[in-house]
Order: sequence, then C-alpha cells, then structure tokens
Amino acid sequence: MFDKFHEECGIFAIFGSQDASINTALGLHALQHRGQEAGGIVSMNNGVANFHFADGLIADNFTSRKIIKKLEGNSAIGHVRYSTAGKKNARNYQPIYAELSTGFLALAHNGNLTNASTLRKRLINEGSIFQSTMDTEVIIHLIAKSQKNTLEEKIIDATSQVEGAFSLVLIHKDGIIALRDPFGVRPLSLGILGDSYVVASETCAFDIIGAKFIRDIEHGEMIVIDKNGVRSSKPFPPKPSKFCIFEYVYFARPDSFIEGKHVYEMRKNIGIQLAKEIKLDADVVVPVPDSGVPASIGYAWQSQIPFELGIIRNHYVGRTFIEPTDKIRHFGVKLKHNANLSIIKDKKVILIDDSIVRGTTSKKIVQMIREAGAKEIYMLIASPPTIAPCFYGVDTPEKDALIASKMSVEEIRQMIGADYLGYLSIDGLYQAINQSKRDNNSPQYCDACFSDQYPIRLTDKIGEALPLFERE
Ligand code: SF4
Repeated sequence: MFDKFHEECGIFAIFGSQDASINTALGLHALQHRGQEAGGIVSMNNGVANFHFADGLIADNFTSRKIIKKLEGNSAIGHVRYSTAGKKNARNYQPIYAELSTGFLALAHNGNLTNASTLRKRLINEGSIFQSTMDTEVIIHLIAKSQKNTLEEKIIDATSQVEGAFSLVLIHKDGIIALRDPFGVRPLSLGILGDSYVVASETCAFDIIGAKFIRDIEHGEMIVIDKNGVRSSKPFPPKPSKFCIFEYVYFARPDSFIEGKHVYEMRKNIGIQLAKEIKLDADVVVPVPDSGVPASIGYAWQSQIPFELGIIRNHYVGRTFIEPTDKIRHFGVKLKHNANLSIIKDKKVILIDDSIVRGTTSKKIVQMIREAGAKEIYMLIASPPTIAPCFYGVDTPEKDALIASKMSVEEIRQMIGADYLGYLSIDGLYQAINQSKRDNNSPQYCDACFSDQYPIRLTDKIGEALPLFERE
C-alpha cells in the first residue's frame, strides 16, 4: 500500500577488476534507491561462476569478507530489486542464470517485458520448464532455444522477440554484455575504472567506486566487453526514443547524469517551471522530503518565497516498525515525517511533493501541517496528475487506485484537505526537461502514466493476460 511509484530494479556490471565483487556491491549500494527488497551478485573466476543472493539491503548482506571471498573473480554483475513481475520469493532473485549450449550465462534486467506472458505460454507449450515467475526468465529460455551460432547472435535473436522495456547486463565465461531496448525506456550507462569497464543503471554507481562516466549506452545498443576491449553494435531496427520521463521527476538519484542531463538540475527546473505556472502569495516553501526538495528549491528561487525545511524526515524507519499492528500503522506518517513547528505556525505554506499516487500520504501530511498551526496550505505537485499505471518496469497500483484517474483536481484537493492544489502541466514538464513543448503526435519521452498513451505495445494486456505471472 505504498503511496509512491517504485522503480523496481538497478543493475551493475564490471569486467577486468580484481575487486569485481566488492565494486559490484558498492555500485549496487549506490543504486539501492532502485530496489530494496533483495539483491544478487554473480561473479566469474576463471570460467567458474560464483553467486550470492539475499533479501534486504546490499550493505547488510554483501559486504562481509566471507561473502566477498565467496564472490571471487575479475568480472561480476549484480542486481537490486523491488519486484514488479514476479512475486517476492527466493525463486525470483536476479541475476537469473543457466547452463546453455554456449556455457554459463547470467542476466540481470531493469524494465518489464510487455509480451512475457504470451512468450512464456508458447515456451511452456514447447517444453520449457520455468524456475521463477519473473518476466526476465523468458529471455534466458529464448537464448537457450535460439538456433543462431554465437552467444551474441543468440542474445540478439532472443531480445528481438521480446517487447517492452529492458536494460540488461549479462555475464559469461569470457566477458560481459550490456544491452538496451530500442526505445531506451530505462537508463544504462558505460564507465571506466582504471582498465576495467563498468556498466550501471545510473552514474551515481560510478562515483562510489571512483569510475569515470564514458557515455550513456544508446537506445537499441549492444555493448560487448571482453579481453579484446569494447565493441558496440546496433542490432535492432531503430525506434523513436521513449525514455521514462518519470526518472527525472522521482526515480533516479539527483546526483546522477541520465541521457545527458543532471537529474538534480532537471528537478530544480521543474520547480522553476511550477513557479512560472502557479503563482501564489505565501510565506514559505516547504518540501515533502526527500523527493520534493530540488523542485522546492527551484520554486523558491523563481518565486522569491523563502525555502524552509518545514518537515523533518526520520531516516531510520524500518519496515518492521511500519508493519506490525494497526495501532502502530496509525502513526505511520509521523514515524517518517514531523512538522517543524516554528517554520509552519501561523504561516501560509506552499507544500511541494513530486507526485500524488493514492493520496493517502498527502492527506496525512496536510493534516500534520494543519495541526502544526499553518494558516493556509497550498499543495503543489511537481508533475502532472498520475492517471495510468506503468507497464515498463515501475511498480504502480492498478489504474482505479490512482486517485487522479477517478477524481478531479478539486475533488483531490478536498480529499487531502488542502486550501489549494495545483499540478505541473505536461507541457511544463517537457519545458523543464527538454526545453520544448510535448510533441503530441510523437511525445519525446514515455509519459504514459501522465497521458495514458502507451508508446510500446501491451501485448499481454491486449491479448487477455495469462495467469502465469503473479503481480504483487
Ligand atoms: S509509464 Fe510512467 S513510469 Fe512507466 S516508463 Fe512511462 S513515464 Fe516511466
């Protein structure tokens, strides 16, 4: 019952490093915001694969000497997950791996395949035996069944059959391979650490190990890294760019560079644009921490209304504390957020959050600010209303649980109890990120959760989704 969209996965790969596994653990730690449910690392040591998987955070489960020793090798890939397709259970750890005719192969995926159920049914009918409920597993089966000669050709053959969003890293006995879908929905970057090449979902994973960012892996590009260096190819027919615009709004870490743009700067621009679109007479601009902070800084800068930390976030709230009883849950929002009384009392407050999903958290936060003595509460949202679920690798509620899909802005305002509620326009979002209006015929990004226009075919959904994947 989270009240945010959740990015579901982060991936990392390194080739040619004596410290491959510890660098992978550190890289995954930097990507932890992309998934906190479980992690996994597969390393390769002279042709022998080593594994470790665990529920919970990377820092708690992957950094002991014993685990790092177990993950010996000079190349490794890793994955952090917040599951989308596939239930929480031990069978659904990634990287997923198998012994194929070409030898050992492991694969980690960020994204979601929109024809996975359809392919899975076909593969099962042809005799494939699935080990997990993850969409990703179809890729391994398709690689295994491919009649092409080389591993690279088999991977291209397999990924040409899948639809949806996929940024992938793969490891085999001779090297690593990275691949991004032709629409480029999810991010993937290439970096270098001394003589080692590194691939990660976001550049913040390079910073933590001292690696240098080389470039984004292009949409539809395959990068092969082995002892001969780096080779690039574009094996898929080109498609229009559909990078996820929500990465800039909320998912990516603000210190990452994605698609040539600094995420923090984009979020500040969004706040500036919000101030241009919605002018209010108020005393103070207060972010809902942490994701509302950069947009609030932008709004305050543009509007010349003081920025203040009127809500303090407790960073030490564990799941166990939120979940045990109804009584405790009742205090949920106060466990995480507390009003900073001297900032709020008797003030006209502009509250800024990145999005409203179900509206339940916004309601509690508005109530908390009201109880702290605010004179007026103006709630501003640094994105357009979220009216549709994501099918490209983000965990979202069903459409009818999205408050903006069934209520007007005025109805939502009443429901959350604010004196004013305003959203950034979709053109404003494009203006802030792309310095241009939205091209309504062919939007420059995927913005389906704001527009209900899905840029990649939803084959499973259209063709009666098969009950072969369980959704949480
Ligand atoms: S539907 Fe929304 S969250 Fe999903 S890829 Fe598109 S913009 Fe991103």
